[in-house]
Amino acid sequence: MSRFVLTLILPLLLLCGRLAYAAELMVVAAHPLASDAGLKVLLDGGSAADAALATAFVLNVVEPHASGLGGGGFALLVDERGMGEVIDYRECAPQKVDPARYTDPADTLKLAQQTGGPSVAVPGTAAGLHQLWLRHGRLSLGRLLQPAIELAREGYPVSEALATQIQEKLDRFMAVPEQGALFLKDGFPPAAGDTLRNEPLAQVLEGLAARGLPSFYASQGEAIARVVQEDGGWIDEADLAGYKALRREPLMGSYRGLDFLAVPPPATGAIAVLECLNILEAVPLDRVTESQRLHLLAEAHKKAWRDRGKRLGDPAFCEMPIDSLLDKDYARAQLEHIHPDALHHNWPPLGSLSWEEKLEEFPPRDDGNTTHISILDGDGAMLSLTQSINYFFGSGLAVNGYFLNNTAADFTFIEESLNWPEPGKRPRSSMAPMVALQDGRPVLALGTPGGPRIVTAMEQILVHHIDLGMGIQEAIDAPRFHPLGSTFVHETRFAAETGPELEKIGYRPYPHGEFNNYFGGAHAISRLHGRLEGGADPRRGGQVAVFVMP
Ligand code: GLU
Repeated sequence: MSRFVLTLILPLLLLCGRLAYAAELMVVAAHPLASDAGLKVLLDGGSAADAALATAFVLNVVEPHASGLGGGGFALLVDERGMGEVIDYRECAPQKVDPARYTDPADTLKLAQQTGGPSVAVPGTAAGLHQLWLRHGRLSLGRLLQPAIELAREGYPVSEALATQIQEKLDRFMAVPEQGALFLKDGFPPAAGDTLRNEPLAQVLEGLAARGLPSFYASQGEAIARVVQEDGGWIDEADLAGYKALRREPLMGSYRGLDFLAVPPPATGAIAVLECLNILEAVPLDRVTESQRLHLLAEAHKKAWRDRGKRLGDPAFCEMPIDSLLDKDYARAQLEHIHPDALHHNWPPLGSLSWEEKLEEFPPRDDGNTTHISILDGDGAMLSLTQSINYFFGSGLAVNGYFLNNTAADFTFIEESLNWPEPGKRPRSSMAPMVALQDGRPVLALGTPGGPRIVTAMEQILVHHIDLGMGIQEAIDAPRFHPLGSTFVHETRFAAETGPELEKIGYRPYPHGEFNNYFGGAHAISRLHGRLEGGADPRRGGQVAVFVMP
């Protein structure tokens, strides 16, 4: 919705007494209809939590490949006084999980980890969004789910992204009639702009609006358990009835005078991002060349990513040295190992293959997964929420118009790992929704999809915005990279001299598109530079919806 239209709406709302406070409102999400639905909730006097529900459920309809009722995620809400709360609704392994199934030598393509019944973990979205609403919601569930129900029932326009993803998985949609009926247009892949309907999902959402979000586990339990078990998985109705979203204390960090609140394990992306920032804090990043900066960011990431792999997991199953990892002295010691002109030599191989061999076998795909929502409400609270069904279309299994996750793929299938699958365990996640505070007030909400690239994308966006002074949109647009061993996977928009300079340090540049989904889909709201700014990722078709008091 344009700012112009909202400006016209304002006097009416004030007359109705429904908007007594709002000065600035913003929602940034991966689809314009989702951002608009969230903003309208804020204009109706809803809180950031209310807007998150409306936005997330619209995404379930219009971006069904990336998140929804069949998945899970993490929400971080920080009120106007800087007090934060995390809702962890990460999926967990079912009680009857049989880890041996994931490592069966006969499964040479490791399909059990990634597709079908065994890959599905117990979904957390309904429980998590319920917690968020119960604790911080103001409007009725009926109001919040209404935009999603209407779009599912009356039809929604297919986005470029959805059309592309359906085309990529066309075999499956052709082979499974119930999915083809919902996601094909007269039996053919839809084009962007075509209208699709999802009546089964409209009915599920209507039931939840009437009976409450927790009713999801009873009303959908039998169908989910049947679909998963028929495909060789283990989830049963008791797993669904027993699922609990958890409230957690936010993780704390700081960088160049800003305080950061972030999501703790089993989400591990933020620890890695904060560790990178701690390492970089001693370097004047605005006074080095582009290639030097990229090298420093890559080396810091390498260190943080290694710590994450060895030391972090589900807190219900392991002790973790989080304070030591985020210690500033530890970071200073790590910086001493980084040589400005040479690659750190001991990047560990990935299993039996070197990173280069692995890249030969599995070149980076233009894949993005997951979705991120940032919200600023009328009280000045900020919400940063990342949720997922893991890979696009998750396990490939769907129930009543929503897809079931394949989040079991996020476990580590090495028995000594803290992240080895066990009954009830939440697999380690790279998701890293964050909020930064300045003088105790929330000034920046940021998060992104991207699996392992979440950490490098966040690191780069924060350095662009904080160190280089870019506006948040420019910081998100700027070209990104992700290091894989000594291979430097990058977008093609870096300065001409940067590639050869990186080669001298020892990198092998690997160009990977101009704006590529592979590097994430970040959505942010910032007041850091003294004005309100929204940033939506062009790699993802995201959109900022804003209202500013005239
Ligand atoms: N399964 C991924 C994780 O939790 C989802 C995030 C993503 O791929 O963007 O790390």
